Amino acid sequence: MLYLLTFVLLCFPAFGNETTTIDIAEVELLEVASLSRKPSFDGAWGQVPTVYICPGTPITSSRVRNAMRVWQRLGYDMIGPIQPTYMPECFANAYKRGAILIKLRGQSFNETNLAMTQTYRFTDTREIIAAVIQIQAFAPEKERVIEHEIGHAFGWHHFNRRYHLMHSMHVRGGWDTYGLRRRNE
Ligand SMILES: [Zn+2]
Repeated sequence: MLYLLTFVLLCFPAFGNETTTIDIAEVELLEVASLSRKPSFDGAWGQVPTVYICPGTPITSSRVRNAMRVWQRLGYDMIGPIQPTYMPECFANAYKRGAILIKLRGQSFNETNLAMTQTYRFTDTREIIAAVIQIQAFAPEKERVIEHEIGHAFGWHHFNRRYHLMHSMHVRGGWDTYGLRRRNE
């Protein structure tokens, strides 16, 4: 019997300078608290995942390929990206085993979020078997969004160190990949 657990990781947007509602003091405290530890992750793929770009998703395959390279350099294997002309899982609230699906946001998606990744795992072994990345129409234009979401697809949690790729707030993140290299066990 297979039990799946869904993790929904909401990625908070770059509010820009105009609508910043962030309590800076709290954020700074959070950063100090997390400085002494490494990014954490939950689960690992049991197979090499294939990345699919669902029909109608406003992102180019070269953009996705570049994002994949960031993780490939960190030791993660992926196949693709593949742009199918039709895939039923793209048009339903569904996942595809062995796949990382990139699709335009669904209806339940909060508009203030840039993107959302659902990662599917077996609860006993923590093996990741699928991931679905939903993005806003404007999100691909922002740098790092796809890279960050692929990180969630590989099980990484948020890590709120300034300029880190997995920072929960896009505006405070960056290209720092400290602690993200795949560990060979
Ligand atoms: Zn995130």
